Amino acid sequence: MTAATRPLRRPDELANAGLAPAAERAALERVAQRYAVAITPALAELIVPGDAADPIAAQFVPTAAELDVRSNEAGDPIGDDAHSPVPGLVHRYPDRVLLKPVHICAVYCRFCFRREMVGPGKRKTLSPRQLAAALDYIRARPDIWEVILTGGDPLVLAPRKLRAIVQALAAIDHVQVVRVHTRLPVADPAKITPGLVRAMQASPKATYVVLHANHPRELSAAVRAACARIVDAGIPMLSQSVLLRGVNDDPTTLAALMRAFVESRIKPYYLHHADMAPGTGHFRTSIAEGQALMRALQGSHSGLCQPQYVLDIPGGHGKAPIGPTYLAETDASGGYRVTDFRGHAHRYDGRSPRKRLPR
Ligand code: SF4
Repeated sequence: MTAATRPLRRPDELANAGLAPAAERAALERVAQRYAVAITPALAELIVPGDAADPIAAQFVPTAAELDVRSNEAGDPIGDDAHSPVPGLVHRYPDRVLLKPVHICAVYCRFCFRREMVGPGKRKTLSPRQLAAALDYIRARPDIWEVILTGGDPLVLAPRKLRAIVQALAAIDHVQVVRVHTRLPVADPAKITPGLVRAMQASPKATYVVLHANHPRELSAAVRAACARIVDAGIPMLSQSVLLRGVNDDPTTLAALMRAFVESRIKPYYLHHADMAPGTGHFRTSIAEGQALMRALQGSHSGLCQPQYVLDIPGGHGKAPIGPTYLAETDASGGYRVTDFRGHAHRYDGRSPRKRLPR
């Protein structure tokens, strides 16, 4: 086994690094022909070679299970295309749009919901003309209050290009918030340079960075330092994670992940139920399992550690919070049963006091 000095992209490189069994090479070649593969040296270092259950390897090292595509899976599982009026832009909700300037990432996650769209040889990075058209679309719609830069990973852009996008958005009066979704601080923390951070600061509008991480071991000292460079620059951070079987589907790991975020000054935001992307069935839990995990988290950990558990409804219908719920109506006049953090039920009289009319 040799330590990687550049991203591992081919099954033979993974085998040489001791991260994939040589016997599976033919199957992994088939996987790699369909879906992009890249594991940065920083992430390769976190993997325990030979541990078949390693939660970092599970997220990034391809497996033959990805060749098993189920009938309920789809290439565009959350329906981006149905809401894409111009290339690289998704307008699903009234007050915000996704802007996808790049379709490449520093690493490729095996459960990615855009796996048919990202990676070398997939959709191209937006051309200057396409980017201009996307900005024109935003400019022409005063209801767009927030622009979410996603992709791909927008932070793989050169700081000069990122700055130009951030400044173009800042110049649109009605855009008040820019949100950057990224995995780069985890994939390659050294790439969170002062220049990249300054590019995000190039707007007087509110800028947020949402970090994607799924296991507490991803929040290494180097990753925490990279996030501190962002937060110290005055850019608040939020987290998003995907609930993944074999990675974070137990209460201890999920709680440790949320605490790692909070300790790094990153507020847990979303826990996504895994999307129906092709070849990802081995990662998906049931919704009941997800709700039980959320209940355990709520029962034992600080409110700061609570993300919202959400499902992206297939077909492009948007996100829905999927519980668990703690309140049930028991009668039409305002009676409720509410469950406390220990799981004990209590009655609650929720009738609104009627105002006395003056005599
Ligand atoms: S970084 Fe995001 S877009 Fe890129 S492969 Fe991972 S989940 Fe997909």
